[in-house]
Amino acid sequence: MKVQPLPHPIKFIEIPFFFTPSNFEMLESCPLKIIAMRSYIHQLPPHPTVFLGQLLHIVATRWATRSSSENITWNALFDETEATFDKELEENHSTHGLVPLRRAIGRRVWKDRTRLAKSWRLGLRSKPVPVDLPKILSSPVGLLKCSGFPLEEKRKHTAKLPAGFEQEIVVPSLRLCGRLDWITEPKGNVVEVTDFKTGPIFDGDDSIRKEYRTQMYLYALMVGSVNPNVGIRLFLQQATRMEIDWDEASQEEIRARLETVMSFLPAHKKIKASSISVPGPHCANCQIRHCCEGYRGIAPQWWADKYPNSKRFTFDTWGNLIEVVSQGETDRIRIRDAAGRLVQVEGLSQQWELKKLEKGSLVNLYGLQPCEETHRGLQPRNFHEFPPGRRWSRAFGVQIFTGPLAQEK
Ligand code: SF4
Repeated sequence: MKVQPLPHPIKFIEIPFFFTPSNFEMLESCPLKIIAMRSYIHQLPPHPTVFLGQLLHIVATRWATRSSSENITWNALFDETEATFDKELEENHSTHGLVPLRRAIGRRVWKDRTRLAKSWRLGLRSKPVPVDLPKILSSPVGLLKCSGFPLEEKRKHTAKLPAGFEQEIVVPSLRLCGRLDWITEPKGNVVEVTDFKTGPIFDGDDSIRKEYRTQMYLYALMVGSVNPNVGIRLFLQQATRMEIDWDEASQEEIRARLETVMSFLPAHKKIKASSISVPGPHCANCQIRHCCEGYRGIAPQWWADKYPNSKRFTFDTWGNLIEVVSQGETDRIRIRDAAGRLVQVEGLSQQWELKKLEKGSLVNLYGLQPCEETHRGLQPRNFHEFPPGRRWSRAFGVQIFTGPLAQEK
């Protein structure tokens, strides 16, 4: 866990052939975020709840597809999967600060979400799944690995509508490929598609979050493309099961959106990354923001002024190092940030070896937590890694880089 050189910015990127329903809404907001996160190797760790969601899906899948002779409890499966997650996260440079995952998540969220997932177990039963499923699902840090888009064209249109848990459907004519959490056998010629969610599913105005609606509509298009003769019902399963309307109007709307994206993002075209980056509130949880010229260029303007959406700050800062002071077992640094403000970051682990940095060198700190209120909509000037008191949360998954790159000078 030492300070690393800032990776080179992403200059060009190849557009993939397939899109994924689960992040389609974000693809429309900032295509670079989704495309680069699927293909770029130097990624910042995601928010720890992303790993928790993945862990719970794996436990649910293993539970649903266990053989009848297997004498195992939900809790035993959960403990075993959690241990695997912690081990893998620990071994990865950018995620080892998230271990143990339950501490990074926080007691209340951990308890609420794991209890929720456990409540699903009674209804979960599925046919055994192909042997490669554990491999696909069992690598938490797979979220950070560069997979590229190998052999995309060779993926064939799904010939027969599958049924069961974690079923993949591929529809090249729609450029869509996705793994559906749960799809039933047709009952009275109607199939039910369910997606399991552990996080909040409603927006501030109590309507179902738009990205979940989009995801489910795209699943419906895919199912309809594989078998045009079945009726489709869509559900989100959280604490209760909620049906999402699927009618002609929603079908037309989602088709039009998909066609717009397909023509804007032609498969395999190599384009300038800056032409498809759209900085905004969604940069807050973007795993490639340290390599995104769009974000690096505009963020200092946000710091100096007001945020486009003050509820979604990016708790990052970069600038020239003024001083490093040891405070017990941690370090405190002061920098002049790229907006010309004096910024302080305290509680930094001494494993970063910040004392070795020269005064005036450029330091880039990502994934911090603020130790001041943010309600005024202004970028904080005081951050931390380990909190100065119980009132503040610890910043898990902090990453520190040195720079700058010549082209940013
Ligand atoms: S940092 Fe912002 S602009 Fe850049 S890719 Fe991520 S979301 Fe898009």
